[in-house]
Amino acid sequence: AQKYVLTKYFQGEPKKTDFQLVEEVLPDLRDGEILTEAEYISVDPFMRAYMIGYKLPVDMIGGQVAKIVVSRNEHYPIGKYVTGSFGWRTHTICNPEKLKGNAGFAPFSLLPDISPYPVSLALGILGMPGNTAYFGMKEICRPKSGETIVVSGAAGAVGTHVGQIGKLSGCRVVGFAGTDEKCYYLEKELGFDRAFNYKTVDIKAALKEGAPRKVDCYFDNVGGQISSNIINYMNKYGRVAVCGSISSYNESCSPKATILQPAIVLKELKIEGFLVDRWIDRWEEGINANLRWLVDGKLKYEEKVYHGFDNMVDAFVGMLRGENTGKAVVKIK
Ligand code: NDP
Repeated sequence: AQKYVLTKYFQGEPKKTDFQLVEEVLPDLRDGEILTEAEYISVDPFMRAYMIGYKLPVDMIGGQVAKIVVSRNEHYPIGKYVTGSFGWRTHTICNPEKLKGNAGFAPFSLLPDISPYPVSLALGILGMPGNTAYFGMKEICRPKSGETIVVSGAAGAVGTHVGQIGKLSGCRVVGFAGTDEKCYYLEKELGFDRAFNYKTVDIKAALKEGAPRKVDCYFDNVGGQISSNIINYMNKYGRVAVCGSISSYNESCSPKATILQPAIVLKELKIEGFLVDRWIDRWEEGINANLRWLVDGKLKYEEKVYHGFDNMVDAFVGMLRGENTGKAVVKIK
């Protein structure tokens, strides 16, 4: 068995030398325990943002879909899949009863059979990012038919999902993403009304063109200057769901501040930050709603699949650089 241990705090973009790949000898299983083998491991932006809060060295955190390979728990038979916050490790021993109800980044659960869909979806639209989009939209943006929604980080795991929920809610949806190919995909495949490459367009001009009735909901995945531009372009009583600020995760110092308070006051905006585990008690509701949309053909997904446990760091950096459309995952087996 192997695991990644973070031994240095990230400075700028994560590097292979920030990690140590450690061999582990696994103990025998006790009654009630299972041994799982990682099938897919997730790479997510929060891994870049959160590690600063841990004392080093620390095992790398994150969600997994894993297969049960040895079991001393009759409710968890060999061959079934589970999801859990197991981190960047090939093998995990756990007692499922002790993990139930833990929030984490991928709440522990036995996966139902979702064939013909790949089990990796439990790390994407049928997992934490899917619930982030679902609850962020339903409980914070609260879109009404006819309104205009803007989403940044639009081509990623959360963003693609947010935009599609916006369309299902009868809204005009405008996305910002980092390449022309991503924008093409958002408009042609996912039905976004407009998508703009934030690296090449003038943001204010794009907003004027894409959102002629201005913006009622802003789902903010990136923070920074683009978010200031969007918030300044909102309608009265608009709602902002502050989901993340990936534009600053690799920065070592704070970016120059932009004053947003005048727009917030004058437009009487409701701006709310959230962490998806606020809805841990309603986790199944989100998964089931997303699954129903998927099965009904109303929700599409894309995955960027990297291969091999040795490529965890490359996959992580690739996702932060924007190589992914949809959810970035690493296939281990
Ligand atoms: P994504 O799949 O969106 O992957 C990250 C994407 O971020 C990249 O593909 C890249 O796309 C974009 N990006 C990278 N650097 C920048 C930059 N400087 N400016 C703008 N965009 C950039 O990740 P997720 O969907 O998993 O996460 C999206 C956001 O949601 C993150 O901020 C994350 O922290 C947050 N989040 C928050 C949760 C919560 O509970 N609050 C839960 C889950 C996620 P591009 O080519 O467009 O640049």
